[in-house]
Amino acid sequence: MGDERRSGLLTGLLGLAGEAAWIEELETGARQPLSQLAAEAQAFAAELQRAHGVGTAERVLLLVPPGLDWVRSFLALLLSGAAVVSAPISAPAAEIAYLAEDSGARLAIAAHELGELVPGSVRVVPPQRLAPGARSEGEVLDRDDALVLYTSGTTGKPKGAVLTHANLAAQTAALREAWALSPHDVLLHTLPLHHLHGVVVALATALSAGASVLMARRFEPARVASSLPRATVFMAVPTIYQRLVEHEALLADDERGRLRAAARALRLATSGSAALPASLAARWRALAGAIPLERYGMTEIGIALSNPLEASRRRPGSVGLPLPTVEIRILGDDGLESDGPGELQVRGPSVMSRYLGREDATRSSFRDGWFLTGDIAVREAGGFVRLLGRSSSDILKTGGEKVSALEVEEVLREHDAIAEVAVVGVPDDTWGDRVIAVVVPRPGRASECAEEPLRAWAKARLSPYKVPKQVVVVEALPRNAMGKVLKSELIRALKPPTR
Ligand code: AMP
Repeated sequence: MGDERRSGLLTGLLGLAGEAAWIEELETGARQPLSQLAAEAQAFAAELQRAHGVGTAERVLLLVPPGLDWVRSFLALLLSGAAVVSAPISAPAAEIAYLAEDSGARLAIAAHELGELVPGSVRVVPPQRLAPGARSEGEVLDRDDALVLYTSGTTGKPKGAVLTHANLAAQTAALREAWALSPHDVLLHTLPLHHLHGVVVALATALSAGASVLMARRFEPARVASSLPRATVFMAVPTIYQRLVEHEALLADDERGRLRAAARALRLATSGSAALPASLAARWRALAGAIPLERYGMTEIGIALSNPLEASRRRPGSVGLPLPTVEIRILGDDGLESDGPGELQVRGPSVMSRYLGREDATRSSFRDGWFLTGDIAVREAGGFVRLLGRSSSDILKTGGEKVSALEVEEVLREHDAIAEVAVVGVPDDTWGDRVIAVVVPRPGRASECAEEPLRAWAKARLSPYKVPKQVVVVEALPRNAMGKVLKSELIRALKPPTR
């Protein structure tokens, strides 16, 4: 579709929308009209091309905390024709080095305090705010790569999902319509920007609708609660809703009243990236008057399914109906299409074309043009889809972030004192999956496998959300006759008793 067309995404972000829109940093109060920010981004894009030779198809790391600098740098990179590799700002140097190497980036835009995480082979450029005037050269096309988001899978290290300008235009257009986003909206943004949810579903969609954005550097319940009265739209993961309802319970009566009034006045509150427990949806309804609009998506496909905007038509426990440009099918173990249970497969213009530099992984993720999500689903009355779980117990979701148990195990196995390890996700009210490492120490080295030293060791090698929250030392791992670790048995043993 529209292969030679100019990037509709950029036209939308910079031209048609955003006339009166602004972005404000929640922590500092710094605020800029989007039009001014975009003009500065143009000048920065010209500088990236002129001084650093940035060109089409080149991948550039973006390692900047959420805020005006991030958005300006992001737009500048898109305008220069580069594809943005959005890096997690809390990752240790080892993970940043992996992203740089795997993506082939030779340049990084990095905030001053984060520059030292970037490997020496990559040139670091600080985020720049240049006076408007200069403009980037060349045409950015719909078919050009725009964004590379690293995501964990069932094999090996994280893979870079490549989203083109056309993919992002399709994703943002579908959500704008489905959720009726407009220049009247103010989005309270409190999600990380290395993840699809934060960068595309929330930020890019809001900006493309001409909405304004209140942007938090990180999620803090008190700050979000006190800023809610200024917002019309809130997008979050279940962990954030859980922490907000816990925060509400601690408030004095007058503060609680203010939070409730603000939550009730929201036009839209959405939840996704992990299953929203029914009990949590009900607690939010008690606070805000409606359950959050739950939707389903994935780094590789954007948002595929969404509950209706109209609160009375939302179905608790369901992830809703396919968005208009998304096709879905459910395939059972027999390979036949049905209403499930079976694997959910997705097709349409929002679906990525490839993993960066991984033809085999790309090939095995698609069948006959359908992307295989690995999520098990059923279609219920009225076409609403309910998710039953994932086909692999090695993919964990903690705080809305995806973690590969195998990746964490691989890192822990490098520790001298560890003989064997299994990483599992145990159901948890706040985190969804609580990441737990079950460790068999080498003889005489159990003390080195205690929780704190092991967590500290893991923190130096893994992003904080991947670091096991708990370490359990055992003498042996349960295995079946083939020697495979019985993770379901571990999860059963570690699960807190149901109340
Ligand atoms: P990610 O690529 O990190 O966005 O992770 C995508 C995965 O998150 C999906 O394959 C699902 O397993 C899970 N997911 C996303 N949204 C939901 C939801 N509303 N309910 C349950 N799981 C979800």
